[in-house]
Amino acid sequence: MPRSEYSALDREFSELACGYCGSITYAISSKDTICHFCEAYVNTAEEAIKADETYAKLSVIQKLISSSSFEDALKATDALSSKATDLRVLFGSFAIYAAASDARYYDRDYNRSGFMEENSSNVYASLDLVSKEKESAFKFLRLSAEKQKSSPYRSVEYLRFITNVRLKRRLYAKRSLDLLESSGTVILSLQYARMVYAVEYSSGNPESLLSPMLIRGSPNSYYYLSRSLFRRGKYAEARMILQKLSEKIRMPMAASFSVRVDDFIKKTEM
Ligand SMILES: [Zn+2]
Repeated sequence: MPRSEYSALDREFSELACGYCGSITYAISSKDTICHFCEAYVNTAEEAIKADETYAKLSVIQKLISSSSFEDALKATDALSSKATDLRVLFGSFAIYAAASDARYYDRDYNRSGFMEENSSNVYASLDLVSKEKESAFKFLRLSAEKQKSSPYRSVEYLRFITNVRLKRRLYAKRSLDLLESSGTVILSLQYARMVYAVEYSSGNPESLLSPMLIRGSPNSYYYLSRSLFRRGKYAEARMILQKLSEKIRMPMAASFSVRVDDFIKKTEM
């Protein structure tokens, strides 16, 4: 991989605000990006969106997550999403529950003396979060499918793609990707979706799709680069990129993948 492609990680990122999950997220170019927390397409500065009521509520939840007040963050997410029919809220709460369940699961501390009780309660808590995560995701898929029938939006189809990939529903993800391709113009979200599909399903040539994303796309591309390297047995390189990424961004997907990579490397060194 040429040096120029890694060098984007050394730059200062611009900050944009995600209306789907309430995060302040990072962009390599200043005009648009893919959210590091929920993977929605984002092109607004916080100034332009801060008066929006849903954004304000989600942004409070993100602040609670950043200050490690997970219980309060989850209570607020429950309150916001329990009867929600707004696609934005459903997609955002799906990402918040997913991040929380990953954090719970990987937080297990095997060195703690009473580890059985502590850890099993963590595992049960993460199972409860997984069921909430799935509930939000499937509700999002159901309601968005109905809306797409009457007036299809590429932005919604892109979110359906991300949701299906995260739920590991490859056929549905492919269907969404085909729909995105069929509209002709190549925009950042389509470029990103192509890359995610190639990396996650080892299809086509992931490296060739990663290159342009690493230069102009979102910093998330580095997470997918590390996954692609890991799949090809380049474990140390995969870990190095995850470490570099975590110095700049608290990205839930990358954090849980990083624990898996570390575990794997430890086991193979034994
Ligand atoms: Zn987001």
